[in-house]
Amino acid sequence: MLADGDDVLCVDNFFTGTRDNIAHLIGRPHFELMRHDVTFPLYVEVDEIYNLACPASPVHYQFDPVQTTKTSVHGAINMLGLAKRVKAKILQASTSEVYGDPEVHPQTESYWGHVNPIGIRSCYDEGKRCAETLFFDYHRQHKLRIKVARIFNTYGPRMHPNDGRVVSNFIVQALKGEPITIFGAGTQTRAFCYVDDLIEALVRLMRTPDEFTGPVNVGNPGEFTILALAQKVVAMTGSNSGITYLPLPGDDPAQRKPDISLARSALGWVPHTDLEAGLLKTIAYFRDPGLRAA
Ligand code: UDP
Ligand code: UDP
Repeated sequence: MLADGDDVLCVDNFFTGTRDNIAHLIGRPHFELMRHDVTFPLYVEVDEIYNLACPASPVHYQFDPVQTTKTSVHGAINMLGLAKRVKAKILQASTSEVYGDPEVHPQTESYWGHVNPIGIRSCYDEGKRCAETLFFDYHRQHKLRIKVARIFNTYGPRMHPNDGRVVSNFIVQALKGEPITIFGAGTQTRAFCYVDDLIEALVRLMRTPDEFTGPVNVGNPGEFTILALAQKVVAMTGSNSGITYLPLPGDDPAQRKPDISLARSALGWVPHTDLEAGLLKTIAYFRDPGLRAA
């Protein structure tokens, strides 16, 4: 966005992020950083809002689950209130978790999901579902221009070593020669999208005509078992790590893979980075975090 000549106001409470990730942007004349938590009102003047706020890793969003729901729900209300006042276009980073443990495979946007309202993932899943509700009600009731993306598992450089999600966990474990921690039998599946592909989709979504609101799935349909991911990471890092099997956490979805037909037609978008290419770049980053300034 900076390269396109936009002014960028970056708002973060740094609960899971770090300033190191944007160190290379600080000091640029069109970049402004603000430490702020979206659960509190925010009065600024902007044309477009990307609301990405909320920890996305189960270990982090389960650390303070009440705050996680507040971040998605109060955060959405505040950002929608802001968008309403300044007539900004607003994009919501929703999630494949709105589909819960899906009974439809692959998942299409028309599927309403299979979500436990009272489990350990509910603070994230139901928070994000309620945020979608708020977006569509502000759209219907206040004529806001909204864009809702349902983001599937995403990974890449600048993830925190302690992020807790599977790709960074396995890479960090493999590089340290520690056991790879597989939860359950490793037969559950996920489809992994490289971060640059995801960003491209979000920017394209923001630029769609006002009539297009989504929700639209954004992810890479290449589906892998967690065991296959572990083997790939071990092979690619040349690690001698073994595998440790740990109990499967509650409500962990058995399979997940996006149907991206809508993203193809509405955004003219498909992901270009396959798992191997994305892992190469991510492994390089974790080997040498000095690459973060790139
Ligand atoms: N809000 C904000 N920034 C603004 C405008 C509103 O943070 O520029 C917050 C404000 O705290 C409010 C919420 O957004 O509680 C929802 O605003 P809205 O106008 O939809 O509702 P109301 O103010 O009528 O409750
Ligand atoms: N997982 C695992 N080992 C880990 C971290 C995660 O086996 O160290 C599994 C987890 O149980 C889930 C999948 O990998 O089945 C993806 O987990 P992640 O936390 O990355 O995201 P999720 O899609 O579950 O939100």
